[in-house]
Amino acid sequence: MSMQIGDSAAEAIFRDQARTWLSQHASLRSDDVANWHDDLGGHVVACKKWQHVLYDNGWAGISWPKQFGGRGGTSLQASIFAEEQSKFDVATGSFAVSLGMVGPTLMAHGTPQQHAEFLAPMLRGDHVWCQLFSEPNAGSDLANIGTRAVLDGDTWIVNGQKVWTSFGQFSDYGILLTRTEPESPKHKGITYFIVDMKSAGIEVRPLVQITGVAHFNEVFLSDVRIPAANVLGQVNNGWAVANTTLTSERAFIGGGGSSWTVEALIETAQKLGRTQDPVVRQKLAAAYTRAQTLSYLGYRLRTASSLGLIPGPEMFVMKLAYARHWEKTMDTAMEVLGADAMLWGDNVIDNGEWQHRLLSQFAIRLGGGTNEIQQNIIGERGLGLPREPSVDRNLPWRELVKG
Ligand SMILES: Cc1cc2nc3c(=O)[nH]c(=O)nc-3n(C[C@H](O)[C@H](O)[C@H](O)COP(=O)(O)OP(=O)(O)OC[C@H]3O[C@@H](n4cnc5c(N)ncnc54)[C@H](O)[C@@H]3O)c2cc1C
Repeated sequence: MSMQIGDSAAEAIFRDQARTWLSQHASLRSDDVANWHDDLGGHVVACKKWQHVLYDNGWAGISWPKQFGGRGGTSLQASIFAEEQSKFDVATGSFAVSLGMVGPTLMAHGTPQQHAEFLAPMLRGDHVWCQLFSEPNAGSDLANIGTRAVLDGDTWIVNGQKVWTSFGQFSDYGILLTRTEPESPKHKGITYFIVDMKSAGIEVRPLVQITGVAHFNEVFLSDVRIPAANVLGQVNNGWAVANTTLTSERAFIGGGGSSWTVEALIETAQKLGRTQDPVVRQKLAAAYTRAQTLSYLGYRLRTASSLGLIPGPEMFVMKLAYARHWEKTMDTAMEVLGADAMLWGDNVIDNGEWQHRLLSQFAIRLGGGTNEIQQNIIGERGLGLPREPSVDRNLPWRELVKG
């Protein structure tokens, strides 16, 4: 497969159309845009507004089939649009779960009734969705989830706890993994639900992170009643459905660019008179080299996508390389800031963006599968190394030792 760098003629035309439309409906991002991490609730409102504009103008769901209200384009067109959109001052983050993960899962596994009820409002931006998968004892080992769902007539009764639920405090609906057959091995006996987050018995408690922002939550479920019609896919076959969601999540995270650039860090270094320091220069050059390598890795992913192929291990390599680049470059940023790196609040350089990004590295290193899990997958699928030993795969979930 030869690598394609830059746009084909058709892609260039599409990029041009996207840019023209965007410039008519939004203003270009400037250096002093408001930081949404200061007001997450306001950010959600801004996201809803912008999604409505996209929907009304036929730019929502670019790669969604027309039958589901989308534009019927390719995933490459969707990423070209996202690239162009990122240059404009518009809010988009709070629909990452709904549009990026729930939409594809619903389309693949939902009933016609579920399609009709949920997809159009999702695309329009009426509803924010969250992902209720991880639990205190089930993160990397997600199949170990213990939140129980028991059928009572035509209603399921759910009890348990979820954690790390991004945007849970602003969500209208959630996708929920539950244990419905504890006698089966852990990957079997899981059922996947759509849950109305306003249901009685759901308590959402925001968790304040090291950055001072509460982006995610603990969610407690006590006798929550979910209608049987809200099972997505088959009862006890939720792991297959969850895999569609997780594949979409990885594609989304792997394909995402960052909101900062090495060029911006170089500008800060110049501004502070730090570019004469040979060690700082070397580190900036290393950061620039990593960023270039990542963009070439991005071209490989795009080439695969334009050929209609599902990217293989390069997706996992990308996520790992991106997380490491973030970590190392923020160390360099702190060195560039010197003693000023210790400031927080008023009088910080560049609005405190570099400190925020330093502390945000943990989100990238853990979310969507930790660095260590990426390495395991690259080892198995990319390098053909033996599978990690798994002693509990075939035992009944009920008999497993729980953390
Ligand atoms: C920013 C962010 C947003 C998130 N949003 C959501 C969300 O909206 N919904 C949701 O359900 N979840 C969400 N998560 C949870 C995320 O999926 C988990 O944090 C992740 O899967 C890791 O699970 P854990 O935190 O339980 O860590 P653990 O699995 O307990 O891992 C602890 C440590 O052990 C290592 N480890 C574990 N297993 C292995 C192994 N087999 N080999 C080598 N090392 C191993 C890990 O790499 C890690 O360093 C989010 C996480 C973050 C950081």
